[in-house]
Amino acid sequence: MESSYHIAVLPGDGIGTEVMRAAEQLIVALESRIGVRFAMEYQPAGAQHYLERGVALPESTLKVCDKADAILFGAMGLPHVRGTDGTEIIPQLDLRFHFDLYAGVRPIRTFKGLPTPLSNPKAQDIDFVLVRESTEGLFYARGRGDVRQADGVTSEVYDTMKITRQGTARICEFAFKLAQRRAATKGRSARVTNVDKANVFSSMAFWRGVFSEVALKYPDVASDHAYVDAMALNLVMKPWTYDVMVTENMFGDILSDLIAALVGGMGMAPSGDIGDRHGLFQPAHGTAPDIAGQGKANPTAMMLSAAMMLDWLADRAGDPRLADGAALIENAVEQVFADGSVRPMEFGGPHGTAEVTRAVVAALMKTSAKV
Ligand code: ATP
Repeated sequence: MESSYHIAVLPGDGIGTEVMRAAEQLIVALESRIGVRFAMEYQPAGAQHYLERGVALPESTLKVCDKADAILFGAMGLPHVRGTDGTEIIPQLDLRFHFDLYAGVRPIRTFKGLPTPLSNPKAQDIDFVLVRESTEGLFYARGRGDVRQADGVTSEVYDTMKITRQGTARICEFAFKLAQRRAATKGRSARVTNVDKANVFSSMAFWRGVFSEVALKYPDVASDHAYVDAMALNLVMKPWTYDVMVTENMFGDILSDLIAALVGGMGMAPSGDIGDRHGLFQPAHGTAPDIAGQGKANPTAMMLSAAMMLDWLADRAGDPRLADGAALIENAVEQVFADGSVRPMEFGGPHGTAEVTRAVVAALMKTSAKV
């Protein structure tokens, strides 16, 4: 087992830098608890860097990410910083394509002690994972839009969705394996729900066919299908009924924000962008320009993303100390909310980034890794 792990750290813009400071404090505290050192190498990237240096994602940053054991990412993009085609500077999308981080993993669950916007008491049992295909789908069109002119003005623009057998099969395999793993650790039955629009698009009918082929290889995992519009309804009406769901890139982008809302907001939603060789972990939220620089950001999503990173690294490195570290973070977060002493501003409470961080770090130093 390694005595030290190399983490590439990309704080980015807006509240990305603020929540990353919280994650750093947590990781430093964790070192003494689990006897592992984390060499955190900070790297520039983002919209502000683009403004200052003309490049959003420097080669040197990519090199450090490539060599690192894992990448920890804050948030990037600023509404007023845009490329010539009018789109925002979003290096996280470039990283996904560059390192082939095809699996966008977005777990979502309610925390005792925090209110949810849903009045049904079953909302306390929300615990599922959205798996978003992250290298194809409609996002593949980014930077490739077919812009046509007529009479000197733009008259038509086409963004084409890309769905391949290989890309669909690997994300579906990922979802089924994740369901098996959750069943083993949570003692619940495994189920994967495919989310598509197969009633309208041939690309989506093809996606559904590939999903069904993959499902046959996992007879121990139940599977079903839902159209994305019906899923938008079901996620509000009965989100507690889901286990793992898998979907195309654009649908996953939209549903990610919806599912964060189910448990109180973007500050509660962690994520991992995982490939066969690299893993990048980041809160599901963006740079939140409306609250940036005010110390109001909820750092929980960032902290839970750090826990996801440790879990992923634990598996890759065969190092159970890292899995303990992940459990310590999860338990510390659970504790500070459960006893009602901490209520993030995102929930209308009085506690900003620094207070939430202090409470979680203090709980981490006392809590046990056992669940
Ligand atoms: P992106 O397009 O990069 O995903 P976005 O503009 O869709 O970003 P966010 O930056 O995620 O959106 O912000 C959406 C809303 O959620 C904003 O009102 C923001 O203040 C709020 N928000 C996001 N993250 C947090 C957080 N960690 N704590 C509190 N509020 C947050």
